Amino acid sequence: MAERLVRMEHVSRHYGALKALDDVDLEIRSGEWLSVMGPSGSGKSTLINLLGALDRPTAGRLWVDGAELTAMGEAERVRFRRQKVGIIFQQFHLFPHLTALENVMVAQHYHSIADEGEAMAALVRVGLEDRARHLPAQLSGGEQQRACVARALINQPPLILADEPTGNLDAENEDKVLRLLRELHAEGHTIVTVTHAAKVGNLADRRVELSHGRLADLTVPSEEIERRYDEVLVQMWALEEKDKVAETARIKVPDVVDNQRTLQGMSESGLIFPPCLTLEFTARGRVRARDLVRRRRLAEVLFSSAMHLSDPEVEVAACRMEHIINPEVTNSICSFLGHPRRCPHGRPIPTGDCCELPIVS
Ligand code: ADP
Repeated sequence: MAERLVRMEHVSRHYGALKALDDVDLEIRSGEWLSVMGPSGSGKSTLINLLGALDRPTAGRLWVDGAELTAMGEAERVRFRRQKVGIIFQQFHLFPHLTALENVMVAQHYHSIADEGEAMAALVRVGLEDRARHLPAQLSGGEQQRACVARALINQPPLILADEPTGNLDAENEDKVLRLLRELHAEGHTIVTVTHAAKVGNLADRRVELSHGRLADLTVPSEEIERRYDEVLVQMWALEEKDKVAETARIKVPDVVDNQRTLQGMSESGLIFPPCLTLEFTARGRVRARDLVRRRRLAEVLFSSAMHLSDPEVEVAACRMEHIINPEVTNSICSFLGHPRRCPHGRPIPTGDCCELPIVS
């Protein structure tokens, strides 16, 4: 288990009778991407402000990277902000009279490393080299947000806090910012995103939800976890079919940044052996993979032969269908279709109990 970067114990932030955050306990592992979900007014920004030492709790204790924020004086908190956190706000907080480059450099000045080259490198990284000399008003919303990402990156802070990082962005810029966050995560930064966008939430390793200042461990809904497990099992099966070793690095889980977490969960659920460089089914995992592949490929046959759907509709429909077919119905479908041996793409369909019966051609 990776070491923990953040620890909150009974943290509250009250404004008089209003409990913006109320008795929150939370731990964030080093390198983890945590997504804090919740409706407007639930306390998400308050949490970010506390983690970024922009605000202080009214009760409770908070540690980041081994240092207790709640025990620090103002000078120490300023140092903490310089060295440990990069914050990406929804409202971009760029100085209107400074160029993109200068805005990034302000962060640097703030960290007392006035290096234009480094600021430029950060802008290049977010794809804004052509806009370095533009004022914020001359930048689109997406470009302003990317400038903010560059500014947050400048000191390579271990903890990156992002408050609705894609809140004001169109789809293209949203993808760019999310790609950047994924890269940062892959490089080992710990990321906390606050969002009510499921698309952003799904990228995280773990999700928690705030509701009226109280934290509920949302994690990922169990059906979503199971769907991820199924995807991995199907990929492992397909590799095995091609006589290829299921190398861990080859497996891609959709919408997931940290495959390792999914694979660990699969191992704990007894579907695969503890993941190392390669993955191996347990007996139970193999049965589940076989059943999945069987259902999916039978659904493909059903769609293409009985319903005359063609590629790529077949595959899409079959994937959807596969999740709603009751496993008990699979044998009836198999019998109905005459126990086909291959799917429309020519891949073998694993046999089931019903296939012991004479095959109708
Ligand atoms: P979110 O980010 O989830 O929209 P916030 O953390 O901004 O929620 O706010 C949580 C609650 O705290 C809201 O009811 C908000 O009105 C209240 N709040 C936030 N900041 C202040 C403040 N400075 N003074 C009084 N109430 C505040």
